[in-house]
Amino acid sequence: MGDSSSAAGLDPRIYNKLYLNGQYVDAQSTETYSLKNPKDNTVVADKIPIAGPADVEAAVKYAEEAFHGPWSQFTAIQRTECMLKLASLLDEELIPILTLDSLTSGIPVSLAPVRERNYIRNCVLYYAGWTDKQKGDYFPPDDGFVKLVRHEPLGVCAAINPFNAPVACFFLKAAPALATGNVLIVKPSEKTPLGSLAVAALFEKAGFPPGVIQVITGPGSTGALLAEHMKIRKVSFTGSVATGKKIQTAAAMSNLKRVTLELGGKSPAVIFDDANLDNALTWTINAILTRSGQLCVAASRVYVQRSIADRFIEEYKTRMKAAAQDMGDPQDPTVKLGPMVDQAQLERVKQMVDRGRAEAELVVGGNQYGETGCFMEPTVFLNPRDDAEIYRNEIFGPVSIIKTFETEEEVLKLANDTEFGLMSGVFTKDITRALRVSAALESGVVGVNCVSLQNMQAPFGGKKQSGVGREFGEYALRLFTEPKTVLINMAA
Ligand code: NAD
Repeated sequence: MGDSSSAAGLDPRIYNKLYLNGQYVDAQSTETYSLKNPKDNTVVADKIPIAGPADVEAAVKYAEEAFHGPWSQFTAIQRTECMLKLASLLDEELIPILTLDSLTSGIPVSLAPVRERNYIRNCVLYYAGWTDKQKGDYFPPDDGFVKLVRHEPLGVCAAINPFNAPVACFFLKAAPALATGNVLIVKPSEKTPLGSLAVAALFEKAGFPPGVIQVITGPGSTGALLAEHMKIRKVSFTGSVATGKKIQTAAAMSNLKRVTLELGGKSPAVIFDDANLDNALTWTINAILTRSGQLCVAASRVYVQRSIADRFIEEYKTRMKAAAQDMGDPQDPTVKLGPMVDQAQLERVKQMVDRGRAEAELVVGGNQYGETGCFMEPTVFLNPRDDAEIYRNEIFGPVSIIKTFETEEEVLKLANDTEFGLMSGVFTKDITRALRVSAALESGVVGVNCVSLQNMQAPFGGKKQSGVGREFGEYALRLFTEPKTVLINMAA
């Protein structure tokens, strides 16, 4: 293949290259793989490089040169200017990039014009405003020493991203990393690298020096080279718990690089009998169907109070059944629900659902949808066994489990009886109960009369095994910097 190939009618292009030091270049490694569209398993791109040790070394070298060289000379306001320029370039270029990304992610392009675009744009604009607000601290010389505290960038950082929100994850890590003066090597998921490769060139157009943002492609073996690298100072990871543990281990065994982990969930939504039922239904259904359930904050466990259970469950089932009609070609702008990301993910979900038939009552769906592609029917189970795999583990598909409860005490025990702790929701009109329950739910984010959402200004991340550290808001900046204390002897 030449420099690049374009998918029919699409601009930007599909790159089967790495993006290093401001250019699309051939990988030194000769290993490659191909990518398929999950709507019909046709090949979208081939010869995508599997970056090896020499490629990672090159990326780290360029990153260090940028960090110590031109990028270190940028004032905070110059960094803001670059980020604002980037935001305006994204206004033009983001929709085609998200459309390109959809070819392998299966994320419906209908999400791009508003939802995805606003999320990414807001992220860049939000962090553009933070560059000159890293004010540090000062303590007076009451003991003879003035104490100054500086928030310094960490240096060369790496982002290792999951398949389900490739471009959004790119910016969630790049924006705070660059606002604080770091440089970043991004490794998108091997399943969905196209949007991340295409977006990389916009950074130089916006005025960032070459080497500040680089993109390398490849599977877990490439990610492992980053996690164990002695000159990378931080890995910001989003993905599964199992991989998060490997990354934290590699970081500890190499150079104790800083690690932020945004991991999986099995998020509960708790619906009390005084809740606005239509609101609870809308949020809980959206929360399991968005991206066809391939969402870390998916509300995959729904607890409903017994006195309203029959009514709630009937309507929930009706809406989930009806949602199958919303499935279709993710590249059609009228389609709301797309496929699983690939055949492997479809098989994984199908197998979990098949095992689930013996562990809970299957009341909606349960099968692959259609005959071509990787579509899974919206699926609902009732009253799982306490140790059921579908109730305990993240499925990452359009599959929810409903369980009934009598009392607040009982439902809190049920909701918290998990190693995950990313998101939860409580639905009630009683404000004191909402406050009490939101305090008791063991998750990094709790929605009241809403669930499965994030806000750029407020921290996002998991308790327990759902993560380490936080993204979003000022909290992300703290985790891309380290304080340095300067002690000034006033007696000298
Ligand atoms: P994954 O863990 O399989 O892969 C994530 C990334 O890690 C990929 O880029 C992969 O190549 C890389 N990787 C794999 N093995 C590695 C290793 N040994 N060392 C370094 N890197 C390695 O996850 P996935 O299937 O792509 O994504 C789905 C998971 O991500 C779900 O569990 C979901 O809940 C989670 N997720 C969490 C959040 C959050 O913000 N908490 C957001 C999105 C997705």
